[in-house]
Amino acid sequence: MRNATPPCLDSFCRLDRLGLTVRDQIVHPDHSVLVCTPTTPAGPCPACAGPGSRHDTVVRKLAHVPFGWKPTILQVIVPRYRCRPCGRVWRHDVCAAAPTRGKLSRDAVTLAVKHIVLDRLSIARIAAILGVAWNTCSDAILAAADELLFHDPTRLDGVTTIGVDEHVWRHTRFGDKFVTVIIDLTPTRTNTGPSRLLAVVEGRSKQALKQWLQQQSESFRDGVEIVAMDGFTGYKSATVETIDDVTTVMDPFHVVALAGEKLDRCRQRLQQETLGHRGRSQDPLYGIRRIARTRAALLTKKQWFRLLNVFDQDCHTPFAVSWEAYQRVIDAYQADQPAEGKKIMTRLITSLQSSVPTGLEELRSLGHTMKRALRT
Ligand SMILES: [Zn+2]
Repeated sequence: MRNATPPCLDSFCRLDRLGLTVRDQIVHPDHSVLVCTPTTPAGPCPACAGPGSRHDTVVRKLAHVPFGWKPTILQVIVPRYRCRPCGRVWRHDVCAAAPTRGKLSRDAVTLAVKHIVLDRLSIARIAAILGVAWNTCSDAILAAADELLFHDPTRLDGVTTIGVDEHVWRHTRFGDKFVTVIIDLTPTRTNTGPSRLLAVVEGRSKQALKQWLQQQSESFRDGVEIVAMDGFTGYKSATVETIDDVTTVMDPFHVVALAGEKLDRCRQRLQQETLGHRGRSQDPLYGIRRIARTRAALLTKKQWFRLLNVFDQDCHTPFAVSWEAYQRVIDAYQADQPAEGKKIMTRLITSLQSSVPTGLEELRSLGHTMKRALRT
């Protein structure tokens, strides 16, 4: 019989590379705990570089990669030393095991990032796998992404066009938590490849974007020519206040969404004015709410008939006019030639600027927003 190698728990649990060794294990029904101590040598006093003697120990808990289908927690016994010459007390350096103040081991961070990027798992699911709170997991992933992104010094070179958008990072009972996502659109503009992620920053305020732009180098800001964004004016002022000579544009998706929203508002207003209550299934303006948001070229004969029936009533004229404007916006982005699209859009914006009669407040406000947000 061959000599079996004695089992080495440290390498099996991937602790050797983290500079830790197992001292004990505690198996609970729903998680396991590995009690560890550092294997790295103790450093000198950080203040005077003098020698120290063992003072006491503190316990640091780190979520680790799960073993045996259970979350695994490392309970690291971290020694503290007292400097003999100056009396200062310091902790044993365990940065090989986890980032400073991190609550996940380095292997757990790698696993979490892999799960979110490759396996598309939700943060809630990853948090459950690791046995940590949602916030702990989210913070660790954001910090790791930051480290990965900011370690490539050339990643911001040659960026001329960026896109800014807000995303819900988490739904909570007390409201949604937002992040601002900044993407490099230069490759799509120059037809050289897909867009790529530049940064994710907390919040969706003017301040969030402004602060990020200010943190970048002057040569980066000088290179940016176009910033595409939704209608949120905070992003626009953050951009023009930080970058000289920049053009801000509203991206097509948001322009169409905004025009559609104005159309809905107009429909709901007329519904109240004509019938005095919110839309019910038998009401003509309610029945065509989806048809109205469909591109004209895609409507069936029956749908056209229902729509024209509504337009026919005089009290619905503002709705018919708003619908026309909404369809022009879609046409502009569907045009085969960008020049053609631009012509349609310019004509629309000019007409919304000059001749909007009263009773069409939604269109007037659409005109204002587009004028502010679009290059014309
Ligand atoms: Zn000292």
